[in-house]
Amino acid sequence: MDPYSIFADIVAGRAPSSKVYEDADVLAFMDIRPMTPGHLLVIPKVAARSLAELDPVVGGKLFRVGQRLAAALRESEVACDGVNLFLADGEVAGQEVFHVHLHVIPRTSGDGFGLRYRATGPARADLDYLAASIAAADRRASPQASGN
Ligand code: 5GP
Repeated sequence: MDPYSIFADIVAGRAPSSKVYEDADVLAFMDIRPMTPGHLLVIPKVAARSLAELDPVVGGKLFRVGQRLAAALRESEVACDGVNLFLADGEVAGQEVFHVHLHVIPRTSGDGFGLRYRATGPARADLDYLAASIAAADRRASPQASGN
């Protein structure tokens, strides 16, 4: 099956899911291949393949719902001493299903999940150079955003 259609099928009720939360814009359901028990996904109902395609208002809502469900996980029967929010945007970032989704991953000590790679000690000048480049690109894309 085209992976793009799997979450669309879940939204439409054509494919089964274990729902946690639903409103007009957002659906949250259990991941069928959980990284840890209780791992859930928050998705926009209107399909967007990437962050670039996602309505930023709905993007904000994804985070708000993810934030709330992170709190719910901690209060539920799921073993949860911490939470990772994770979103893969693009194939090289590990995205497998091309319908934007926010992972909400409950964490416990020794569960084995982790993002491990870290570059060691880039020079401040390199950090400053990249910061300026990213800020300039952001100003070009969103000239009227606050702070610019
Ligand atoms: P990605 O690697 O794209 O960030 O994550 C895709 C996630 O979707 C994976 O964690 C995978 O287990 C989950 N997934 C893929 N197909 C289905 C499905 O049909 N139902 C549910 N509930 N989760 C799915």
